[in-house]
Amino acid sequence: MPQENSDSLALLERVLRLESSTGYADLAAEGGLEAFAARHAPNASAALSGYAMASPNERKAMVVRARRALGGADASPPVGSRAVSRLPGVGPKRAALLERLGIRTVDDLLRYLPRRLEDRGRFLPIGQIVAGQDAAVRGTVLAISQQHLRRQMSMIKAVLGDTTGFLSLVWFNQPWVANQLRRGDSIDVFGRPERKFREWQMSSPLFEPSGTCMDVGRVVPVYPATEGLSDRVLRGMISRAVDEHLEDVIDPLPPEVRAEERLPSEIEALRAVHRPTSREDFERARRSLAFEELLLLQLGLLLTTRDRAGTPHAGSTQLANSLLASLPFTLTDAQRRVLREIRADLAAPTRMMRLLQGDVGSGKTLVATAAALHVVDAGFQVALMAPTEILAEQHAASLARLLGGLPVCVGLLTGSSAEREETRRGIEQGDIHLAVGTHALIEEAVAFRRLGLVVIDEQHRFGVVQRSAIEEKGEQVDLLVMSATPIPRTIALTLYGEFDVSILDEFPTGAKRTTTHWLPEARREDALQRIAEFLAAGRRGYVVVPLVEESEKVDARAAVQVHEELRARFPRVSVGLLHGRLPAPEKAGTMERFRTGDIQLLVATTVVEVGVDVLEADFMLIEHADRFGLSQLHQLRGRIGRAGQPADCLAVADARTEEAQRRLSAFRDTSDGFAIAEEDLRIRGPGDLLGTDQHGFLTQLRAVDLATDLDLMQRAQVAARRLRDHVPEVTLHEVDRRFAEVIRWLRV
Ligand code: ADP
Ligand code: MG
Repeated sequence: MPQENSDSLALLERVLRLESSTGYADLAAEGGLEAFAARHAPNASAALSGYAMASPNERKAMVVRARRALGGADASPPVGSRAVSRLPGVGPKRAALLERLGIRTVDDLLRYLPRRLEDRGRFLPIGQIVAGQDAAVRGTVLAISQQHLRRQMSMIKAVLGDTTGFLSLVWFNQPWVANQLRRGDSIDVFGRPERKFREWQMSSPLFEPSGTCMDVGRVVPVYPATEGLSDRVLRGMISRAVDEHLEDVIDPLPPEVRAEERLPSEIEALRAVHRPTSREDFERARRSLAFEELLLLQLGLLLTTRDRAGTPHAGSTQLANSLLASLPFTLTDAQRRVLREIRADLAAPTRMMRLLQGDVGSGKTLVATAAALHVVDAGFQVALMAPTEILAEQHAASLARLLGGLPVCVGLLTGSSAEREETRRGIEQGDIHLAVGTHALIEEAVAFRRLGLVVIDEQHRFGVVQRSAIEEKGEQVDLLVMSATPIPRTIALTLYGEFDVSILDEFPTGAKRTTTHWLPEARREDALQRIAEFLAAGRRGYVVVPLVEESEKVDARAAVQVHEELRARFPRVSVGLLHGRLPAPEKAGTMERFRTGDIQLLVATTVVEVGVDVLEADFMLIEHADRFGLSQLHQLRGRIGRAGQPADCLAVADARTEEAQRRLSAFRDTSDGFAIAEEDLRIRGPGDLLGTDQHGFLTQLRAVDLATDLDLMQRAQVAARRLRDHVPEVTLHEVDRRFAEVIRWLRV
């Protein structure tokens, strides 16, 4: 009977430590670790089952688990679950601040990456420093003095000298500095020199004994700080964690993946980001960690992927061909290609999951309609879901027009449609072949007789919950999601990893011919003058008023005001008004009057952003354009010149920040939607692009640079597919630890 007394536990603990320091070679105990543990501590031996056959990585995880199972005073949980509060120098207060940065465990701390590097490795002789330019200086403390100034104010001043000159260092209200400096000390300092009172001075410089190489004297990693937790404190903490815990980090990647991808080891990579010797060194390590994150995310997605078994939904091409034959134009090559891709998906006995991207006006809706007809032809129903009532109504109207001569019945179901009961019945009995609507379509009461295809327009505006709810309305439905906001490929690959992507990269009407002008607020009058000329020439267009506050009421008021102003100014023009708070019939009426030309100038909030399709509109004035995101501006601009005619977009805005300056210039100078989306991503980061509730997944992608790491995403996806059937346990564990929440969100 094995004895689990404290002696044998201590012995096993020692053996386990030995095992980890000898590289998990299973040499620490005679007869192998597993047998040894079974003799001394059956409790811990379960964790070591199969040790002899396991890979070094798995062995490491096993040893860590065994030590945890021992639970002795010494046993330390893996860094992944060890709370930062157990680190020396981290009390409850600091732990709370760290939590704010998303750091809970030692592992989180080790994976908290610098925002940028600062080269403080070259010391400048004092004689060469330049006012206003940060410099690292090495010198000797020649004098120190402490003065009490006014009430509560103290100043410490030290004079630093080298062979080329003198530099005064001053600190206000930091009395402890006096205890850290002594005359004759050689120190390294970093700060911003200024010329003051005929001497060189640095105020509150960083300093450390010469040669410490922590804050000065090397390429220094600069960490994103938070109030109460400075970059410097973080650097100290992380540096200590690197010294004491880096070796315990578990490599989540199987060694063969590391070898194939030629990645440095996990420990090497983490060391290099925190102790970079050069920018190249840092970047190589960062990309290695980014690859790892993307691979884990992709694996998580693959392993929870939906069942793709499906039903073929493609009938004959008869209906679709009649539609195409009835059009006064032919499909573009891009449309033809994409329609072929979709039809192949529909015909296959797997579920279609396809993302169709195309700039506004590239002809997505027509492609989706033709696809829908293939499905109707096979005896199934189609649901087309749009994010707003206006858009749903427009889709229904244009479908009714397009399908007028065909034996296909289109129904509209929105929150405010009049004949809801009747439409619902039509859907249920299968009389309605094509149901168009808003989220009203996914209400419980709506049942489809035989749903075969779901098309979701402007999918990014729906939550995932809604997406899966509509899919539940049928069995093995095919899914086509459309986006006119081009999704940068990096994000498409992360968020839509399991989707196939089709792109409409050609405009039916040829390249867009919209000219964009950007005028400062002071020249709004000039802009209105231009509008007056356009109106006099009989042109039709929009004035767009931005979101003023997160309140439809206030927005409506702003729009109402501009509407009043323009009505007074252009008394002979009919000026319409469209905003979210108007009753649906009034909105629809106004849209219709604008379409027919009865209204010539339409003042609107962003309700016109998506999908509004009035071919004749050929100018747009955007008020306070600085309040819109770049992608949103581009969406708005897509509403004009839709027949391929020349069009004018006037953006009125003052760029109060550098970022606004960049955004507005990009808007003026770029017309390619994908380029716009990539630029938007670079300027604002992905959060804004996706909407606030959709970027939770990004907090776990710490090393990834979504603007530049497209190649890594592609490689990670390939690697994940290769690995999916034999994922080691350590890897699974990391997928779960880091991405479980994200995947739950993506999957609902
Ligand atoms: P999207 O949904 O991508 O914004 P639509 O499908 O609504 O684009 O098409 C925009 C406009 O161009 C519509 O009026 C549509 O009838 C028209 N259109 C679509 N395809 C073609 C084509 N191949 N040739 C000419 N006009 C087209
Ligand atoms: Mg559309």
